[in-house]
Amino acid sequence: MTAYGFNTSLLHGRKPDYPFGATTVPIYQSSAFAHESAEKLEKIFANQAMGFSYSRINNPTVEAFERRITELEGGIAAVACASGMAAVSNALLNILQTGDEIAAAPGLYGGTVELFEELEAFGIHTRYAAENVPEAYEEVITDKTRAVFAETIGNPKLDVTDIAATAAAAHAHGIPLIIDNTAATPYLVRPLELGADIVVHSSSKYINGSSDAISGILVCGGNFVWDAKRYPGMKEYLRFGKMAYTAKLRNGLFRNLGACLAPQNAFLNTIGLETLGLRMERECANALELAGFLEGIGHGITVNYPGLAANPDRELANRQFHGRYGALLTFRAGSRERAFRIINALKLPYILSNIGDTKTLVIHPASTIAAHLSRAEQELSGVYDDLVRVSVGIEDIKDLKADFENAVLSA
Ligand SMILES: *Cc1c(COP(=O)(O)O)cnc(C)c1O
Repeated sequence: MTAYGFNTSLLHGRKPDYPFGATTVPIYQSSAFAHESAEKLEKIFANQAMGFSYSRINNPTVEAFERRITELEGGIAAVACASGMAAVSNALLNILQTGDEIAAAPGLYGGTVELFEELEAFGIHTRYAAENVPEAYEEVITDKTRAVFAETIGNPKLDVTDIAATAAAAHAHGIPLIIDNTAATPYLVRPLELGADIVVHSSSKYINGSSDAISGILVCGGNFVWDAKRYPGMKEYLRFGKMAYTAKLRNGLFRNLGACLAPQNAFLNTIGLETLGLRMERECANALELAGFLEGIGHGITVNYPGLAANPDRELANRQFHGRYGALLTFRAGSRERAFRIINALKLPYILSNIGDTKTLVIHPASTIAAHLSRAEQELSGVYDDLVRVSVGIEDIKDLKADFENAVLSA
């Protein structure tokens, strides 16, 4: 690793050796890769030679994206997937089998909660911690637990996970910590450095940055020691040492589930990544100012943002994210009807289900992304009938303030 700052390393971190001096990654729009002999292809399939075979398994454009994210998260290897949900599924199913349990944070992304429901059909059960604190995970860890799963910043609960303490709690039971770092991004924190074992991203969001390609990625830290008795599937991959987890994934579940990333989307994400630091800096600054401004307006709305003085997670966020608090905020409008009126009165934000765009986005989670959750699950996820989620963009803050002020006062 170089000692460059975040933005410099995004642009120059490890000089890529693209052909012909190209400064952006070439798009290898090829389903398969030919080799000079049957022997060579045999070696590639047996992991005895480097090389590409088939784009469902790997692809040079996708691999370039994987290398960038591995470097950025400080991991040892990454596997890019078709979507964030594919990354979450691959990360977990690589180590779980029927009878296993997941100990999960409350306040998870709705799609992940729905996935965990799907996994019940395969005999994989999820227990949710009542609160996002290490002691609460202790309560739901049993002798069947094989993964602890949390989000750095819960979407849309916006609770902050104490990564080091949660990793320590998981490790005390011989369990890895899997962290969804989508909402925080490595701009705020690198979970692997704090003890997390696997980091997953919906790179459709902040990493991409302008909502032009769905993708996901998981990064392995390489430090977790897999006990083959507890993780029988890992047994034949232990010979890969630190690479055991990703070797198993790439040689098994990942290639056979088939949720690979398209080269074109890997390209778009690699380009988006270059401005991650710049966008996050502006979006976090805008979010902090807008949250304080909305709180000041009052008028029957209550604001949730980890950077607000009264927020219970402020101190943790300040310490873990070095004085930054992310670019998502939520507010409660008093009633579902008023939440809708405020959303409809806003002129700048798009009304849609996404986060991490350069443009400000708003949504009413209870009727959309969390609509399939039971009332109890919604409450655990911090979703209320009057809740509005805002993904703050890079607009001029004066325009955002004016727009939100007008909407809140008029609705
Ligand atoms: C969006 C999101 C996902 C799912 O990602 P997709 O790319 O939409 O599949 C997972 N986790 C979090 C925190 C998200 O915001």
